[in-house]
Amino acid sequence: MDYYGSHITRLIEAFQSLPGIGAKSAQRLAFHVINMPKEQVQMLTDAILDARTNVHYCSSCYTITDDELCPICKSKHRNTRQIMVVENSRDLAAYEKTGRYDGLYHVLHGAISPMLGIGPNDIKLRELMTRLQGSDGNASVDEVIIATNSSLEGETTAMYILKLIKTLELDIKVTRIASGVPVGGDIENIDEVTLERALTGRVEM
Ligand code: ZN
Repeated sequence: MDYYGSHITRLIEAFQSLPGIGAKSAQRLAFHVINMPKEQVQMLTDAILDARTNVHYCSSCYTITDDELCPICKSKHRNTRQIMVVENSRDLAAYEKTGRYDGLYHVLHGAISPMLGIGPNDIKLRELMTRLQGSDGNASVDEVIIATNSSLEGETTAMYILKLIKTLELDIKVTRIASGVPVGGDIENIDEVTLERALTGRVEM
């Protein structure tokens, strides 16, 4: 039943389509917005539209960036023979903050989750495999560090990547970050010391 009228109902539905926003939060946000000054609402919608229009994926590592290539891929000071695979750009930022990693990244934008209907083709896996095969037929890197979360989805994705890399039959070492990352823990919420330890203690898969 339409308790509030079509305009507000449409706004509630729009909020509810966002991740992590349930019916109650969507209502709260919608009512907050209709009580905001119009200029503030304009600023919010401009920021959303501007970000959506101008931010895109780095053509090499797929992190979000303003340019064709992100600053990490553009840098002359990174070890291009190492790629760390992460689930999202926030995880990349978490590892960058430790200041202890100088290789490149590959951002998957998700993890395989049969429960949520997210399959290998829904994340940037094919792009990773293409990237690992150099134009000369040899491996473009020496090591792939898999730094997906230690959740069921993250582990499933890690095993799947390992299997795919093995089928390439290239000389690439595949490692997995150590168990310093708590089971089920999201990388973006982990402190820098633990992340650094997880990285240095990584093991070959
Ligand atoms: Zn990049």
